[in-house]
Amino acid sequence: MTLLDQFAAMHRPSVLGDLPGPRSAALLERQGSRESNARVYGRHFPIAVEEASGSFIRDLDGNVFIDFLTGAGVLSLGHGHPELVAVAAEQLGRFCHGLDLPSPAKDAFTTAQLSMLPEGMRDRMRMHFCGPTGANAVDAALKLCKTATGRSDVVAFSGGFHGTTHATMAVTGVVSTKAPVGNLMPGVHVFPYSHCADCPLELTRDSCATNCVTLLERALRDPNGGIVRPAAVLLELVQGEGGVVPADLDFVRRLRVLTRELDVPLVVDEVQTGCGRTGTWFAFEQYDIEPDVIVASKALSGIGQPVSIIMYDERLDVWAPGAHTGTFRGNQVAFASGARAVEIVRRDDVLGNVRARSAQIRQRLGVLRTNPWVRDVRGRGLMWGIELADPTTGVWAGELAERVQVRALRGGLIVELGGRQDCVVRLLPPLNVTAEVVDIACDILVEAVESCTEHRTEHSSNGRPCPAEGEETTCIALHS
Ligand code: PMP
Repeated sequence: MTLLDQFAAMHRPSVLGDLPGPRSAALLERQGSRESNARVYGRHFPIAVEEASGSFIRDLDGNVFIDFLTGAGVLSLGHGHPELVAVAAEQLGRFCHGLDLPSPAKDAFTTAQLSMLPEGMRDRMRMHFCGPTGANAVDAALKLCKTATGRSDVVAFSGGFHGTTHATMAVTGVVSTKAPVGNLMPGVHVFPYSHCADCPLELTRDSCATNCVTLLERALRDPNGGIVRPAAVLLELVQGEGGVVPADLDFVRRLRVLTRELDVPLVVDEVQTGCGRTGTWFAFEQYDIEPDVIVASKALSGIGQPVSIIMYDERLDVWAPGAHTGTFRGNQVAFASGARAVEIVRRDDVLGNVRARSAQIRQRLGVLRTNPWVRDVRGRGLMWGIELADPTTGVWAGELAERVQVRALRGGLIVELGGRQDCVVRLLPPLNVTAEVVDIACDILVEAVESCTEHRTEHSSNGRPCPAEGEETTCIALHS
């Protein structure tokens, strides 16, 4: 039994000293001197990784962390699931890369993916294998819709995230990364998303009649609205990088009716929400709608082997042969492990576990709702976020969220940030995470939020400003 297995059996993380430890620090320094300044994760988690298993990750200095980032939601069955490792290793030796030629591994993967669609969609959805990333598949979906409709514009939503290529940045909400890059894909119209905890139209539940979708509807139907009929409407059902924001039910249903009436393909980006993350195989199932195009990637292989696909209604299948090619579209290892991952999800009732652990997280994080700095605690399945905002001004508390992230890491838990100014602390555990690990992770997180907001609450309720940087004593800064 490895040390890591022992920790996993105990369900406990263990942070032995300051972070980064000396061996991690050495690699982080070498990385800093040789890699791009755009590198990001080592800035938030100052560790170099030795090995990982299930929900746990061990750094070079022997520190063991619960990993609730899991490769940005890629490792749906945890690190190194033994059955997936075995099937991947076998496939690697047999046949590894096959462009878009058919193979038994690809055939099994295709069958598995189609079988997870709602029954009425299985026979009419076509599949295209894209370059290996989520952004590649979003690009492909937009190209397909433009070709099929003969139109050029795209509607996307504020707060959305779809990737960092030229086209996907254009449909993404984040402004800071767009600003320095000119000439992104033109013809994108960004409309408000149903972010009800922080409504872009400044409505409340009482005053709202899902005006965000009304705005879009009026713009698209208005002969003087200035927008030509788009080639596609692109939607995340739960915005992930945008801060774990589930779309409102009425918003999505009315959007589906509208796009159908106007004959505009509705593209759902399920790169993050797909493969069981929200408790159903795809999040759109919970809205009782049928999209025209589904984009999937991240967790398709279950083991971090890259693969991405679009699945779309056959009436959109207008591409000429070779219209969308790419070298890395035939990752047989991903296909073999992805087909097995679907079997495991069914056999082990992994979706049942997602729903049970989701209820557990809802209950455990519920105590935070009374904390004045916590604007919202929300999630679907195993995608959770704690939104932090100043109780006096309502301003997004990104710097506080970073402190919570640092504090949680110190306690042995890796969590991601997202949303406006990164003010949302995000959880993306493996879908087969145990109740014991969830309990420990919630203990660490609740303690981190409470301790990082303790003195702030006093200051805020006194009507005085929060202490300046440097006056903080509760949270330990781990990196500059
Ligand atoms: N769409 C969504 C919803 C995502 O969350 C992401 C990545 N976080 C992407 C697209 C882009 O995927 P990739 O990083 O693999 O290009």
